[in-house]
Amino acid sequence: MSRIASVLLPMPLPEAFDYAEPEGMDLVVGDQVAAPLGPRLMRGVVVALREGAGGNRPLKAIDRRLDEPSLPANTLEFVQWAARYAVDAPGQPLAIALRGARAPKAKPVRVTRPTGLQPARPTAARTKVLQAALDQALSPADLARAAGVSSGVVKGLVDEGVLQVFEIVPEASFDEPDLSRPGSALNLSQAAAAGLLKEMVDEGCFNVALLDGVTGSGKTEVYLEAAAHSLAKDPLAQVLVLLPEIALTQAVISRVADRFGAQPGEWHSGVAPPARRRVWEAVAAGRCRIVVGARSALFLPFANLKLIVVDEEHDGSFKQEEGFIYHARDLAVVRGKIEQAAVLLASATPSLETLRNAETGRYRWLRLSSRHGTAQLPEIELVDLRATPPASGAWLSPPLVQAIGETLERGEQTLLFLNRRGYAPLVLCKACGERMTAPDTDSWLVEHRYSGRLVCHLTGFSMPKPARCPHCAALDSLVSIGPGVERVEEEARLLFPQARITVFSSDTVFDAREAKRLVESMAQGEIDILVATQAAAKGHNFPKLTLVGVVDADLGLRGGDLRAAERTFQLLAQATGRAGRKDRPGKALLQTYAPEHAVMQALQAQDRDAFVAAEMEERELAKLPPFGRLAAVIASGPDMTQLEAFMREMAQAAPNAEGVEVYGPADAPLSLVRGRRRKRFLVRADRGVDLSAYMTTWRARVKPPNAIRVAIDIDPYSFL
Ligand SMILES: [Zn+2]
Repeated sequence: MSRIASVLLPMPLPEAFDYAEPEGMDLVVGDQVAAPLGPRLMRGVVVALREGAGGNRPLKAIDRRLDEPSLPANTLEFVQWAARYAVDAPGQPLAIALRGARAPKAKPVRVTRPTGLQPARPTAARTKVLQAALDQALSPADLARAAGVSSGVVKGLVDEGVLQVFEIVPEASFDEPDLSRPGSALNLSQAAAAGLLKEMVDEGCFNVALLDGVTGSGKTEVYLEAAAHSLAKDPLAQVLVLLPEIALTQAVISRVADRFGAQPGEWHSGVAPPARRRVWEAVAAGRCRIVVGARSALFLPFANLKLIVVDEEHDGSFKQEEGFIYHARDLAVVRGKIEQAAVLLASATPSLETLRNAETGRYRWLRLSSRHGTAQLPEIELVDLRATPPASGAWLSPPLVQAIGETLERGEQTLLFLNRRGYAPLVLCKACGERMTAPDTDSWLVEHRYSGRLVCHLTGFSMPKPARCPHCAALDSLVSIGPGVERVEEEARLLFPQARITVFSSDTVFDAREAKRLVESMAQGEIDILVATQAAAKGHNFPKLTLVGVVDADLGLRGGDLRAAERTFQLLAQATGRAGRKDRPGKALLQTYAPEHAVMQALQAQDRDAFVAAEMEERELAKLPPFGRLAAVIASGPDMTQLEAFMREMAQAAPNAEGVEVYGPADAPLSLVRGRRRKRFLVRADRGVDLSAYMTTWRARVKPPNAIRVAIDIDPYSFL
């Protein structure tokens, strides 16, 4: 009896395709195969096998099974679940799961080994080479370097047969974590939380806990103890630590390496393809037991995943907004359920969604009340910019300038926080009022002085700053409006010419290694004033940092979307929490035009619970998340008339369902991106509604013209 194999291809196709299994191939579900698609062979994964032939039309046959690790059943189940949830093609998350498998395999490396023969003419140089070759397997060139001799000496020994050169393919392996190492000393609050987490791990089934502790309360030490316990309990257990930013991975990797005496697998977009391949293979084989990575690490083919930690769980960066749209924190809980693993969500400012789950008892709630060691929470002051405005054309108010001066005099450090890259967010012509925008996108161009260019942060478009206004041709008429970090740095340099000042943003710190160097330099006191975007506001410990100045505390409130207040509170609580971490008391100054706003009042009083209670009440009244659910539909196309006609058709096709309201169509706030017009619907549903199923039904009722793209975003975070 022949069999039919359903093969899922890592492409945006609605379903798996059927192929005939050639005689004797003996496939199993999860195998990677090469299957014909049109004239080409494609990599795919077998998701089902059944008896039978192809019916009337003979099926194409699978070409071959690939010599690659199979995807575990749990990983496949997760991929398919994620696609259903996100109302997207299952090939999309599969492509993420196969990212490591599609990276090139490691190339063979040349190593030099002694053969046991003695050199005919032993010289000091030759003895040094032999010693170095015994210590380590190195290439001939590296061996010469390690021994401090010329390459001719090594070559002579090879020619003589004393050394031999081999080609080996480095195995994808990672050192076993050393579980005999002691953990950090924990305070009472940490020890209690770690104890509860260990109990949770011991239950050996799916469980979620919120580790809720103020900045500096030592959450990392606590979750590393849970990880140690999980690894010790089951010699095959694997642990995944998810982080929102690549910039944070290096710090956490160092902590993990210190704790376990072994490097964890590192997984994010900055990891080179061969290294990515190595992690992927080792994770599939169970040889990599700890992975530290960004959101896509959730799709790795874990053989035996037992604990998932989502650090800074509230962070918006866990939401993937392009391609396959998903929220890594929410999917981490799903993956935990499929794997029967423990899931630990950690934050100083948990999301309202997670807090709601903790309040209702769905998640365990572990609170770390005090700061670690002797550190105190910083004192927070609101600077009312209406009463004490900065000088004209400046951005730092007199109280903040004075505080920076005093901090410098004490030899301590200042963080000036402004979540805006570049020099100025807007450039306009003072002759005609024209605002500089990108040619195919309706967002303002941001001026960058370091590069001398105007940049669209949405699409990456950039151009040199023109000498003349492109609209009215006036010469030297373009003026920079508002501050970005580069402009604040310029002002700080004018005010404090003797201070060492550095900017930390994704323009100055573009990879994990650079971030690590800057963080170390700050930690060692080589920087007096750090002007930073949110890249520096998270997770880092700077013992000499005692002043945080928030340049524009109102910035995040202006967008006015559902989560504006929550996000502003979280971001500023994180930023101000950087101050005063060792035994020095810290202070944070928030410059605001709205000191009476609930967010500012809660920040000043350091009363998170009051803020959360007020915000929850508003959301509950409006039946918004976490008391209801949202989905967005964004349709885009080159032609407005066609797009509008399609949106009308789509509005007509919306299913009627109890507890579901559809708003729109409306212009998206960003109504033109890369030459495409954008329109959107917003859907609100009661909690009990299967929103994914509703959206799937709706989506199936309309067939967009070829030029129109429809994206569905379940639980949207961006309302642009
Ligand atoms: Zn002009």
